Amino acid sequence: MTLLSIKNENVIYKVKNKSIHAVNNVSFDIEQQDSLGIVGESGSGKSTLALSILRLLPKKTTEVSGEIIFEGINLLDLSESELENIRWKEISVVFQKSMNSLSPIHKIGSQMSDIYMLHNKTASKAEVKNKMTELLELVNLPQRVYTMYQHELSGGMMQRVSIALSLMHNPKLIIMDEATTALDVITQGQILSEITELEKRLNVTRIMITHDMSVVANTCKKIAVMYAGNLVEFGFVKDIISNPKHPYTQGLLKSFPTLKGERGVLRGISGSLPDLSVQHDGCIFESRCAAKGERCLKEKPGTVILENGRMVMCHSAGGDN
Ligand code: ATP
Ligand code: MG
Repeated sequence: MTLLSIKNENVIYKVKNKSIHAVNNVSFDIEQQDSLGIVGESGSGKSTLALSILRLLPKKTTEVSGEIIFEGINLLDLSESELENIRWKEISVVFQKSMNSLSPIHKIGSQMSDIYMLHNKTASKAEVKNKMTELLELVNLPQRVYTMYQHELSGGMMQRVSIALSLMHNPKLIIMDEATTALDVITQGQILSEITELEKRLNVTRIMITHDMSVVANTCKKIAVMYAGNLVEFGFVKDIISNPKHPYTQGLLKSFPTLKGERGVLRGISGSLPDLSVQHDGCIFESRCAAKGERCLKEKPGTVILENGRMVMCHSAGGDN
């Protein structure tokens, strides 16, 4: 069953007489209990897309259009008070520095309890304490964290608290934006394997934003590749890793060493993202594409739909370039 369906979404930031097209006509579906990795270089629109799902973008300077349909409801149509029933309860988010939103002068446990009480006003003291015990256990934190302060926690413990907070109201969808990027590889690996365990147990669907293709390959079922605000490739990880169709995906995969295979030379993608405040006639990736043809300079490619729900935004993907 489809949990979230994004249809023709556009996000424009209006800054200083400029319109920055950070998300450009993006469409894809997420099925229940999917795990979707969103990858793409810095500035490709990953966080903008994530924030737009939770309607957390600054209202005054952003224009969002299209549809973001969660369980049949277009989130873009909801009022702020209606959204309160969705945020954290149905969809939650973990950022790289989520803990920064907590107070440094109050104990972790009392802050977690306060957040829980916001949505469970009638909960008894015992019920709250039980819930906190359960949450700390869930993310493999010792119970003493309850009486600790933020500065007493390691980076890994802090991210575990953030994950515990995001799971507090049993959400159906959890969005992790570079949530484990700042951690050392060992802690990152532990937390990621715990998350994949947990989501099976709790029936949670996950969107995972990361720069790290190997994290997606190891922990996600599907992948969305973004380039300059466009969804250039989407599909099952196993299909895309073994046979990337978009030249940008091919470049990204060459830029990361394989975990198990031979260590090759890292080949990056030369050039940089185009100016998102300028409209382009042709393909958005054209200036960096080694495989481009005449048509790519003049005509923006549509999205080619292939087998297994695979989507590729490239003239050559349909074999007619
Ligand atoms: P990173 O990997 O560095 O986190 P990202 O893929 O998450 O990058 P976004 O942060 O979504 O990218 O940014 C997409 C584009 O939108 C960039 O050009 C960025 O400069 C611009 N942008 C992001 N936030 C704002 C904002 N609040 N106001 C104006 N422009 C913004
Ligand atoms: Mg980001």
